[in-house]
Amino acid sequence: MRPIDRGPAPLAYAGYGDAIDDLVNRLGRYCSYCERRLPANLAVEHMSPKSVNEALRLDWNNFLLGCVNCNSAKGDDDVAEGDVLWPDRHNTMRAIDYSAGGFVRVAEDLDDELNRRAKGLLNLVGLHRHVANGYPGPASRDRRWEQREEAWATAEKCRADFVVLGESEPALRLVVQAAKYCGFFSVWMTVFREFAEVKRALVEEFPGTALTCFDHAGNSIRRPHSPI
Ligand SMILES: [Zn+2]
Repeated sequence: MRPIDRGPAPLAYAGYGDAIDDLVNRLGRYCSYCERRLPANLAVEHMSPKSVNEALRLDWNNFLLGCVNCNSAKGDDDVAEGDVLWPDRHNTMRAIDYSAGGFVRVAEDLDDELNRRAKGLLNLVGLHRHVANGYPGPASRDRRWEQREEAWATAEKCRADFVVLGESEPALRLVVQAAKYCGFFSVWMTVFREFAEVKRALVEEFPGTALTCFDHAGNSIRRPHSPI
């Protein structure tokens, strides 16, 4: 899951819905949880639900962008701070592994505490749901796994072309443009894990990616002031 930095609050809002344009400007048109690109139908998502924590209803630092599936899986359950990891506070890229076929799993090298919190995050938004794990199949309205699978296949094709094109600068620009249009930042970062210049460009070109979570080669590193 892409670690993000939404930056300081642009202004105070009379209603939380008024923050949508500022959030999209800062973070791009991507769901903060499943990373899908959605030209429309992104909503202001309250990390701590507004029904539970009224004081944070208009708090910029409680806002992410959420798609209907992530919002609906998350619901209005209150979330204890220590039970999950958050894309604006932790390097969530290190907590979750992506693999061919659209699969999402907790990263293997986490200690018990981080493993528990990474599982908490996947469960919170149902990100691990996949038809191969028994999740209701083609008739379901939750198509996140399938779109992730398609994104993986697209990224692999682009990687093959990138190599054929000699890993040139123009080819790199094409890959980045395709990735930004496709969404699923983590899928592209994983498929291009052997290509430092592509990873670095993805980190810089996806708006609002937390730059402190990556080194100069685009490798994921521990976020400052975070256990991961
Ligand atoms: Zn989503």
